[in-house]
Amino acid sequence: MYAIRIIGVEKNFGEVIALSNIHLEIEKGEFFTLLGPSGCGKTTLLRTIAGFCKQDKGDIYIEDELINEVPAYQRNTAMVFQNYAVFPHMTVFDNVAYGLRVRKLTKEVITQRVRTALKSVHLEGFEDRTPDKLSGGQQQRVGLARAMAIEPRVLLFDEPLSNLDAKLRIEMREEIKAVQKSLGITSIYVTHDQEEALVISDRIAVMNQGRIQQVGKPWEIYRNPQNTFVASFVGKINMLTLKLGPGAGLRYRQATTGKVSLNIPAQGTEQLDSIIVAFRPEDVVEVSSKDRSNTITGFLRTVSFMGSIARFEVDVEGQLLTIDRHRPRELDIPPIHSQITFSVPPESILLFDPSSGKRLAQEERP
Ligand code: ATP
Repeated sequence: MYAIRIIGVEKNFGEVIALSNIHLEIEKGEFFTLLGPSGCGKTTLLRTIAGFCKQDKGDIYIEDELINEVPAYQRNTAMVFQNYAVFPHMTVFDNVAYGLRVRKLTKEVITQRVRTALKSVHLEGFEDRTPDKLSGGQQQRVGLARAMAIEPRVLLFDEPLSNLDAKLRIEMREEIKAVQKSLGITSIYVTHDQEEALVISDRIAVMNQGRIQQVGKPWEIYRNPQNTFVASFVGKINMLTLKLGPGAGLRYRQATTGKVSLNIPAQGTEQLDSIIVAFRPEDVVEVSSKDRSNTITGFLRTVSFMGSIARFEVDVEGQLLTIDRHRPRELDIPPIHSQITFSVPPESILLFDPSSGKRLAQEERP
C-alpha cells in the first residue's frame, strides 16, 4: 500500500500553470523531496496534499483514502513551516501540546506525547521556556516536535531550514533525517536546495514549470539525469553542443566544435547530426599534454578554493567550463590565463538530444 498517490493533478492560478499532470506514488515511511527552482510548483503541490489548496483536476489518496473533498484538519497531516510558526506567547510545552488539545486528548496522553516529541528533537528540559528565549534552530525543533506529536500519517516540510545559518542547516537536516527514520513517518519535503535534497531524501522528484522532470533516488538523479534541466539543476555540469561526424554503427563517434574534438559513445546517436555532450567537473582528469585521448584545452579564468577541491573555470572557445582539482595545494595552482588541458573519459559523458533536451538511450552510469 502506498502512503500517498497523486493521480493526474492539475492546478492553475489564472494564466499560470502551477501544476501540470502530476503523477506520484510515495511509499510508506519514505522521505520524499520535491526539488525545483522558485515558482516550479513544489509549494503548491505540498499545500494541495495538506488541503490548503484545492486542485482543479486529479485525485489524491492518503493510504487508499481519496481525500479530494476532505478538509485540511481531517487529513491527519502535519506541516513544518519555514518561519517556524511557533506561538510566541506559549511555552514550548504548550506549543507542542497545541494540536493535541485541539484533538481533545486526555491530559496524561498529552503529557506523554509532548515528552516523547521533545525527547526526539533533543529539547528535554525546555518545556517551560517561551520561544523568544530559544535559538532559531531550537524554535524549528519545537515546530518539528509539534508536528510529530499529533502522530500524523504524513509529515510535510515547507523549506523548514531556509531561515537558519549554513552550519545549523547541515546539523538540522541530519537531525530531521534521523528523527524521520527512527519514527518511520512518511515525509514530503520541499526545497530548492539541491545539496539538501541529495543528502536528506530517499527519493526526489525534480520539478520545473509545474511538471515533474524526473523521480529517482539521489544517486540516480545526479548520476543519470534524464534531461538537460535535471542535469544542470542538480549539481554542476558542463554542456557543449557538438557536431557529429560519421561513424554510425561504430562503438564511438567523433563530435566536434572549433578545436574541440571528443570521442563519444555512439549508442543512440544514429539519427542525429549534432549532440549535447555533458560531463561533471569532478569527472575530468587534468593532463599535461594533448597526447592523451579525449582532451580539451582552454585557458584558466578563475580559481575558487573550496577546501577539499579547487574549482577552475576554463575558457574553451569562448565558453566557460568548470573542472575540479581534488586535494588542491596552493603552490600547484597554475596562474590565471595559463593553458589547461584535461581529458574527458568517454564513460563519464552524458548525451542529450539538442532538440528535446532528453537523455539519449545510453547505458546507465552506476
Ligand atoms: P518558491 O520556492 O518560490 O516558493 P514554488 O516552487 O514553491 O516556489 P509555488 O509557490 O508552488 O512555487 O508557485 C507556482 C506558481 O504558481 C508560481 O508561478 C506562483 O507565482 C504561482 N502561484 C502560487 N500561488 C498562487 C496564488 N495563490 N495566486 C496566484 N498565483 C500563485
